[in-house]
Amino acid sequence: MKHFWRSEIDRLLLVFLAIIIIGLLTKLWIVAILLPAGVYIGWNIYQQFRLNQWIKGGMQTDQAPDGGGLWSTLVTHLHRREVSDRKREQSLRDLVEQYNTILAVFPDAAVVLNNVGEIDWANERAAELLGIKRDLDSGSKLTSLLRAPDLIAYLNDPDQITEFKHQSPLDDKQTLAFRTIGFGDGQSMLTARDVSEEVSMNEMRKNFMANASHELRTPLTVISGYLEILEAAPELDSPLLPPVVSAMSQASRMAHIIDDLLTLSRLEKTTADEDSSVVIDMQAMLENMVKDISRTIADNTHSIDMEIDPLLDLFGVELEVTGIASNLLKNAVKYTPAGSTIIVRWSLNEQQQACLSVIDNGDGIAQEHLPHLTERFYRVDPGRSRDKGGTGLGLAIIKHIIERHGGHLEISSIEGEGSTFTAVFPQNRAIIEQFVPLESTSGTVN
Ligand code: ADP
Repeated sequence: MKHFWRSEIDRLLLVFLAIIIIGLLTKLWIVAILLPAGVYIGWNIYQQFRLNQWIKGGMQTDQAPDGGGLWSTLVTHLHRREVSDRKREQSLRDLVEQYNTILAVFPDAAVVLNNVGEIDWANERAAELLGIKRDLDSGSKLTSLLRAPDLIAYLNDPDQITEFKHQSPLDDKQTLAFRTIGFGDGQSMLTARDVSEEVSMNEMRKNFMANASHELRTPLTVISGYLEILEAAPELDSPLLPPVVSAMSQASRMAHIIDDLLTLSRLEKTTADEDSSVVIDMQAMLENMVKDISRTIADNTHSIDMEIDPLLDLFGVELEVTGIASNLLKNAVKYTPAGSTIIVRWSLNEQQQACLSVIDNGDGIAQEHLPHLTERFYRVDPGRSRDKGGTGLGLAIIKHIIERHGGHLEISSIEGEGSTFTAVFPQNRAIIEQFVPLESTSGTVN
């Protein structure tokens, strides 16, 4: 720093000296001032010109102008800045290159969108799976290329966190799992992966279950019929009666399992049917159900309390919702000891979702079992479940039904304190009746 000021001051002193000498020799002081000052200014303009040429020429190191003093310092600073910019640019270019290479070999389609949903970039797989070509479609709106309304609704929803399965826009027989990930300032990346094989395997499994259950049903009905005839036959030797009765009970258990498997297959094959949904008077339905169960399986063994919001109804498939309530309540009776108390609660939660809870103060369930309870044939205590006539499919069916209604099942339990099973239905299925004061319905107010 000091160095360049020194040489700048030296230069000015030189100009001053030239002025004095020329002035003393010629006595023409104006000429003596203008001449050295003009040379100094001209020289500086020339340095500016060289600097400008050098900048324009890409600041090559070997062509850097050396004007000394302030000019050299300026050149050095500019050169240093240029080198560091070049380095940064190169590392950014390497990064983009790396990113492009990774996404290019990525087995899934990847499309990068800007903050207004226009395509910025797409890998080659995007052309194969979605028909989106980077060169042709850059700058186009994604939603103008993928036109399926439900897919567009998914893409437009910023809160989506799960995958969305949909047919490929290029091939009806191909199923893709879409996912969007937001990043930066409103940008996002859409990925799509081919799940056709997974979907068709799942379909095969479902068909196999449905067909096998269906095929088993008819012979089982015939066997049960013959067993009933045998049991009632007067010629049957009394030692043979117990095995026949036991065979009948096993046949009936099998029939229950087959019925449950058929129910599950039906639920899996169909989607929640808005058309068959009605406004269910939950208070009336739950009161009837609790009355029935209190008189039958819970007679003199359990006390069942109700905490019902009388103004809250549910828009759902009545038979299915009744099935949820009765299965949860029957489970609470089956798996808690005599003397236990069960609460059936129907109310809105903080998020205004309609919740049907069955709460018991039985033995509870160990935490490690909770995530598995809705798996098919999962039982905490298989022997006990069979003794109680359980098929191990009840909660799997309940979960399916709740999900068909757009809701989910929550299970919590503390060993030694009891369990809570809650069917949570979405806000749009909760119907809140208007409270009408008695005076206004009577018509006459005195
Ligand atoms: P199951 O036909 O065996 O009753 P579910 O699918 O209905 O089948 O229930 C799965 C398992 O969850 C049951 O076998 C039981 O061990 C456990 N379970 C369900 N409800 C309760 C409850 N209220 N308290 C304790 N355990 C329960």
